[in-house]
Amino acid sequence: MTELLRATYRRLKSIPLFVFGTITHVSTSKPAVALTFDDGPDPVFTPRLLDILQQHHAKATFFMVGQAAERHPDLVKKAAAAGHAIGNHSWDHPSFPLLTGHERRAQIRACAKAIAPYAQQIFRPPYADQNLLSRLDALWLGYQVITYNATAMDWLDHDADWIKGRIMSRMQNGSIILFHDSLFRHGEDRYVDREPMLKAVDMLLNELSGRLSFMTVPELLRQGRPQRQYWHKQTDIDVLNGLKGQYGEVRRYSKVG
Ligand SMILES: [Zn+2]
Repeated sequence: MTELLRATYRRLKSIPLFVFGTITHVSTSKPAVALTFDDGPDPVFTPRLLDILQQHHAKATFFMVGQAAERHPDLVKKAAAAGHAIGNHSWDHPSFPLLTGHERRAQIRACAKAIAPYAQQIFRPPYADQNLLSRLDALWLGYQVITYNATAMDWLDHDADWIKGRIMSRMQNGSIILFHDSLFRHGEDRYVDREPMLKAVDMLLNELSGRLSFMTVPELLRQGRPQRQYWHKQTDIDVLNGLKGQYGEVRRYSKVG
């Protein structure tokens, strides 16, 4: 099946990318980037992140997990009221290629309900795992799929200097950058700490706010030409099984809808 999907993806290259492409960044000469924060909202770290962003007049995009958003509706509202964009990151963070089409659409719809009425029609697949069918489901529901072209690797226990250095070396005008204000499912306990991420974001904004605009993904998409890829990322079963609170058998995701 996987080979078939890969072959289909290759053939899709004759179809315009704007139909199936996944947006990774924007081609622009303007000094602007989009910071994105996945897996929240988190009752401890999201409010602190919102304070940091506000201090630097920076806007960002939060790809929220529906289950967390439902627990903390005040934080969804607060982030939106501060001018940040809210995107859909599924109901409870399964790897979409492992689900049926019905389950995938139920995941997106359940999250949409939890983040309404603040959300934009943008979706980021959990773990960035995506195959052709899951891409089509997002298209069917009217979502733009947004991944990234720079990652903070903040799901591991790197310190703030390391995270900042990594982003500085990878960032360019038009970049979409992946951070996490929470880890909905995580590996070892020491990875949960968001202090290094918060500190790294603060340092980045301190250094760059004067010469770089930090804006939401929808705003960034208007600054130039969105760049798209046939993004295919297979589920890594070993990674999933290494996550805490994961099910004995990875296919047994909770069903919603
Ligand atoms: Zn995630």
